[in-house]
Amino acid sequence: MPNMPMKNTGDDQSLPANRDSEAQQSDCADHASAEAPSPERPWYAEGLPFTCSQCGDCCSGAPGAVWVTDDELNAIASELGRPVGEIRLLHTKMIAGRWSLRDYPNGDCVFLDPKTRRCQVYGARPIQCRTWPFWPSNIATRGTWEDTCQICPGSGQGQLHSLEVIQRQADACDI
Ligand code: SF4
Ligand code: SF4
Repeated sequence: MPNMPMKNTGDDQSLPANRDSEAQQSDCADHASAEAPSPERPWYAEGLPFTCSQCGDCCSGAPGAVWVTDDELNAIASELGRPVGEIRLLHTKMIAGRWSLRDYPNGDCVFLDPKTRRCQVYGARPIQCRTWPFWPSNIATRGTWEDTCQICPGSGQGQLHSLEVIQRQADACDI
């Protein structure tokens, strides 16, 4: 499963919707817990389905940020067999005091292969990419999850991920 995303636009709605919205909302709602949500038992306590369709949309689209730490840059440099200084110089930019991967004018992340639409640093992709679609902002409510399902064709279908898996990924990401 290659391109696992994702650019943080600050407005997740700006990403393309590739599925029929009614069908997708139905898929999403099917897995919501019937019990009243609580911190111990959130609305997605029964798990949420997600299987990446490898469309690559989440690595492109509207301008955005893919946040990277120094450790993640080191890992990317190692994956590519390049000096970390070169990776930082050529492939990152500073946004509001944080390092982000650059993107091209067409919105593609600098590491998205334009032909295959696969991530060229998949094994070393940043945590932001690893934790999509289970970002705190995406799973905050049924509504935000349904919005996520509309912009990511893999969300709301496929493999059911447990509450523990979802929570672990959300806890690792600050978006
Ligand atoms: S299915 Fe979703 S996670 Fe997979 S590449 Fe497409 S937009 Fe990204
Ligand atoms: S690093 Fe890879 S997975 Fe992350 S946005 Fe760029 S191409 Fe996509």
